[in-house]
Amino acid sequence: MRKIVIAGNWKMYKTQAESLEFLQGFMSELDATPDEREVVVCAPFTDLGLLSKSLHGSRVQLGAQNVHWEDVGAYTGEIAGAMLAEIGVRFVVVGHSERRQYFGETDETVNLRLRAAQRHGLTPILCVGETKQQRDAGETEAVIFNQLAKDLIGVDQQNLVIAYEPIWAIGTGDTCDSAEANRVIGLIRQKLTNANVSIQYGGSVKPDNIDEIMAQPEIDGALVGGASLDPKSFARIVNHQ
Ligand code: PGA
Repeated sequence: MRKIVIAGNWKMYKTQAESLEFLQGFMSELDATPDEREVVVCAPFTDLGLLSKSLHGSRVQLGAQNVHWEDVGAYTGEIAGAMLAEIGVRFVVVGHSERRQYFGETDETVNLRLRAAQRHGLTPILCVGETKQQRDAGETEAVIFNQLAKDLIGVDQQNLVIAYEPIWAIGTGDTCDSAEANRVIGLIRQKLTNANVSIQYGGSVKPDNIDEIMAQPEIDGALVGGASLDPKSFARIVNHQ
């Protein structure tokens, strides 16, 4: 059975004080009836310890936005999987396009980070997706298949979430047509060895388009940036029909 996973990606937003303020509003807006939907907040490293305590016993799970590929060592400025696991982090975003674009992340380092996350029992959320230029050139499938082939070497598909995030749809308000996102996600699924991997859509997901996105049969959830920063918006997305 594929699980529905709705994850917020806060990126470099929210101090500890702001994250607590978010939680107050968010928890009160969440539908009371817990169901099979998984709810995840991927927060900046500095918020994780505090959020772990605040979320304890709730249905909201904690995620990080990166993890280093070595377990320990002289890697100034990096965070290891054991450090995340120890404080109750369950998920970690790996290979987000912002990291690929601004921080030199390659398919090789993405692959190493996925494997490191899994060694520590974390569930990686692997992000893949094409640029506008690649889409216009008809390269969408080739780009994504190439990312999957390299990123997933030696990765356990029993403990994995994938997010299809067309780069041109991220933070732009220009959501990918839901039928098109469904089509690409169906193609991604065909490349996997485990049919039960949850595959999310990400890119300008908002309260007013979540129902249409989630109505698509191949789409198992959403990775939400901007709209996850607002408690009411993110709760509405989690509570979708
Ligand atoms: P967005 O970001 O929802 O603000 O487009 C999505 C993401 O980057 O994961």
